[in-house]
Amino acid sequence: MAERALRGARLGGQSFEDERGVEMAPRQDVAYDCKSGHRFTIPFADEAQVPTRWECPRCGAVGHPVDGGQPEAKKEKPVRTHWDMLLERRSIPELEQILSERLELLRGGVIGPAHLHRKSGRKQSA
Ligand SMILES: [Zn+2]
Repeated sequence: MAERALRGARLGGQSFEDERGVEMAPRQDVAYDCKSGHRFTIPFADEAQVPTRWECPRCGAVGHPVDGGQPEAKKEKPVRTHWDMLLERRSIPELEQILSERLELLRGGVIGPAHLHRKSGRKQSA
C-alpha cells in the first residue's frame, strides 16, 4: 500500500488534490434570489451548465438566478462584424465624409469602373 501511494505521488509530482487547488478553472459567480429576498452567489466553472434553481443557504427556499437564468447567452461573446470594427475606428460623420469624398472621385472618373462615372461636365458645377 505504502509503495503504491509513493509511486503514484512520483508519477503525478504532487497529489491531484493539490494541483486542482492551485490551477483554478475559469469561474462564473451566479447570483440567485430566493423568494424571501435573500441574494446569494454560487461559483460555477465557466463551462458548467448553471442550475436554474438553487436552495437558499439562509432559509432553504428555492432561489432562481437573478439574470433570469440565461447564463448561456451571457457567456457567448457577441459577434464582431466588420461594421462594428469600422465603427471602432471611425465615427458616422467621418464615414459620411469619406463616403462623399469617394463618391466625388468615383463620379469624377478618378476611381472605379467606367460605367459608374458621370458623363463629363454634367454634375461638375453642382
Ligand atoms: Zn432565502
